[in-house]
Amino acid sequence: MINVQEVRSRVCTDNSLTAGANLVTGLFVQGVPSSPPKERCRMTILSKSIVNEGEFAMVGVDCGRWNCKKCGPRLKEKWLRHLSAKLNESLEIYVSQIVRAQWETLRKRIVRMGGNYAHIRLVSGVWVVFADVPEGTLVADDVLIILQTAMDSVAYDRKPIASSRGWRLPKNNMVPDKKKWERVSKILAPVEEVKKAAVSAGVIVSPMYYYNGTTIFYYKIPVTWDEAKVEAFNLMLRSLGDKEQETGVGVLGLGRRLVELAKEEDNQK
Ligand SMILES: [Zn+2]
Repeated sequence: MINVQEVRSRVCTDNSLTAGANLVTGLFVQGVPSSPPKERCRMTILSKSIVNEGEFAMVGVDCGRWNCKKCGPRLKEKWLRHLSAKLNESLEIYVSQIVRAQWETLRKRIVRMGGNYAHIRLVSGVWVVFADVPEGTLVADDVLIILQTAMDSVAYDRKPIASSRGWRLPKNNMVPDKKKWERVSKILAPVEEVKKAAVSAGVIVSPMYYYNGTTIFYYKIPVTWDEAKVEAFNLMLRSLGDKEQETGVGVLGLGRRLVELAKEEDNQK
């Protein structure tokens, strides 16, 4: 958070900052500092090998959503650092405060001039738009203060920040390797839980540690399993973390079905 008093005193002492500082003051009037979300994500991405039949990999990931306790604040920090760099390296930055209905017209004008833009939706509903072409108020050194102020009031819901291609956030590399692995499902449970469920169903899971701190768990479907058992196993994994299931079978039900299938298999021997 920035100090309102500090910003106000700068307005009085330095005329060159007036436009920008007024805008900051405006943001303080309209922007309510937002409180980070409470819900926390834990997810597992399940991938199957393109190279080897029956081989799977699971990796715990963050949901990357703004309304998540863990990802929301992290996204905010990421965008703050990213946009600070982008705004810093631009020769001129213009800022506008608009409402949603004005966005399309403004966007078209910025794009027509070949400019870059980023907009931040505040919890108050106001949009703060940054552009590197003359649309809005030209700001000087205040630009980072304005950015910080807007960020402190960011709406922690669906995609509050967007930008033109030139100012887009760089994409994270998703592990495992896309040439060897194909994503099959997203399980709404932490990877430790999915791993435990797989192990208790009789699958051998081996961890691999990556330099970036990620752990990928590999497993192979036992060759003795028939189609029905594989299907039940996959269903069981996918239903982990599902609190409301349409079928009403539930994880326990599927787990029981797996045990039944295992018994049937033993009886057949
Ligand atoms: Zn998350």
